[in-house]
Amino acid sequence: MIPGIIRKEPIPGRLAPNLRDYASERAAFSWRRAGRCLAGLLGGGLNIAHEALDRHAAGPRAGQLALRWLGRDGARRDFTYGDLAGLTDRFANVLRQLGIGAGQRVFVLAGRIPELYVAILGSLKNRCVVSPLFSAFGPEPIHTRLSMGAGAVLVTTGSLYRRKLAGMRERLPELRYILVVNEGGAIPRAPGVLDYDRLMEGAGTSFNIPPTVAEDPSLLHFTSGTTGRPKGAVHVHGAVVAHHVTGRIALDLHPGDVYWCTADPGWVTGTSYGIVSPLTNGVTSIVDEADFDAERWYSILEGERVNVWYTAPTAVRMMMRGGAGAARRRSFPDLRFIASVGEPLNPSAVLWGMEAFGLPIHDNWWQTETGGIMMANYAAMDIKPGSMGKPLPGIEAAIVRRVGESVEPVPEPGIEGELALKPGWPSMFRAYLDDEERYRKCFAGGWYLSGDLAKRDADGYYWFVGRADDVIKSSGHLIGPFEVESALMEHPAVAEAGVIGKPDPVQLETVKAFVSLKPGHAAGEALRREILGFARKRLGAAVAPKEIDFLPALPRTRSGKIMRRLLKARELGLPEGDTSTLEGAP
Ligand code: ATP
Ligand code: MG
Repeated sequence: MIPGIIRKEPIPGRLAPNLRDYASERAAFSWRRAGRCLAGLLGGGLNIAHEALDRHAAGPRAGQLALRWLGRDGARRDFTYGDLAGLTDRFANVLRQLGIGAGQRVFVLAGRIPELYVAILGSLKNRCVVSPLFSAFGPEPIHTRLSMGAGAVLVTTGSLYRRKLAGMRERLPELRYILVVNEGGAIPRAPGVLDYDRLMEGAGTSFNIPPTVAEDPSLLHFTSGTTGRPKGAVHVHGAVVAHHVTGRIALDLHPGDVYWCTADPGWVTGTSYGIVSPLTNGVTSIVDEADFDAERWYSILEGERVNVWYTAPTAVRMMMRGGAGAARRRSFPDLRFIASVGEPLNPSAVLWGMEAFGLPIHDNWWQTETGGIMMANYAAMDIKPGSMGKPLPGIEAAIVRRVGESVEPVPEPGIEGELALKPGWPSMFRAYLDDEERYRKCFAGGWYLSGDLAKRDADGYYWFVGRADDVIKSSGHLIGPFEVESALMEHPAVAEAGVIGKPDPVQLETVKAFVSLKPGHAAGEALRREILGFARKRLGAAVAPKEIDFLPALPRTRSGKIMRRLLKARELGLPEGDTSTLEGAP
């Protein structure tokens, strides 16, 4: 059985959490004061790369490891804060020499290689707007994003260029240069295609960051495309205050920690918490070039002596598939804090953390649009498994209900409604690219409306119900797919579950579940009936699925989210819509 609460007691001998008392920290918090823990530019202003690198490189942290890169084939490269500050100075000079300056867009399309980190931070130094793209995108999604974002420069590798970009130039009139990282082969010969390494060698070694103000645009991130066509969210340099503070509070980063964020920088998590937050907090980041592999991941956690690990439910579920034995055969004495984001974290996954690592997994919630963590389970706060925790200090959240055109907070607990946030935190997006109308519609009555449904309990914990688009209406009930999926996940044969509403003439919708099984379990009628019965016992007949289909794997985005809209479209024979972020799509 899943316990209703996991109590947190101080562990003797273990580093005390940064946030010890939620209520008092929240009461005393102000963003203005929080901003003071950053240095700011000489003469005023704020630049992400300065806070992430130059500030440390000019002080005692210059020789500390900032980034340890683990190559796919066993190579390792270490970079100190001083090294990265120098390399990014060079890259900023490369851009300057090419005549690329403030506000121009630099796209980076590469696997998790060191050059990606250098290009992103170097571009920020030069006040360019950076957009990291996930390297597994096919040519069309790359083209769409580059042309929507009017990219002036693209940094990529030789093999990605050959496989995905050759022949695309004519359709990208704004793209002036492609900088190709040399991986051993020849650099393609084409107008505007330049050798990244040659340019870096010839570039000046010091760079003065030009005046940058907090409202200057910094990053352009495309959303995951879980609910439809990805949107481009524009962020600003001032966001670094939120990245810094939330890393300290919600991820419990302490200077000198070894930290591993498993997200790719092509998604906002991989940038906000894979690059910016760890660097501003003075930790050593592990970057693994390889894709997910449970054994590899256990060995990194153990071998690199990771202290803080930030990952996603999909990875946790994949590790759970193999059971906790693989973790138990190893030891993780340095691991202090585990957090997860991107999708709801099933209670069974929170508990699996205890079984495998002796630590619960701390769920937190945020979006590309919010730029940083908004809601979290904290190191020193009791966990209610299945809840995404409480709003960060500095974040005012509410469950709201739309009444006609206006929006009203729902004061009483336990009521489902849309999760809304009071605008004003520093990492809030400032625009959707080319979609002013859509941006405006995100705000009403002085609230930012997240598009997610949730409820708040009497203790102030928030519970994710589902995306507004995914919630199922059946015989007068509102059913959140997450609750049904979590119950299914408690069945020992179930590895993963995705739930949709299927139109029904009598009930409006009925609940249908798609389930993938753990190794050693075979799909069949008996198991189907058993799981249906199991769900009915846990959820009651009104909420439990009426139908279950077994699938070898569920469709998911490349960032690992179950695409319920695709399960639904396929079930109903409807068009699949935008599948540019679908895992495995060309
Ligand atoms: P799109 O907006 O293109 O449909 P997306 O919403 O999946 O894609 P992201 O911004 O990457 O793009 O994801 C944010 C969303 O992910 C949230 O709105 C929420 O639905 C979901 N999410 C993130 N973290 C959690 C969490 N801890 N619990 C539940 N849902 C979460
Ligand atoms: Mg979204």
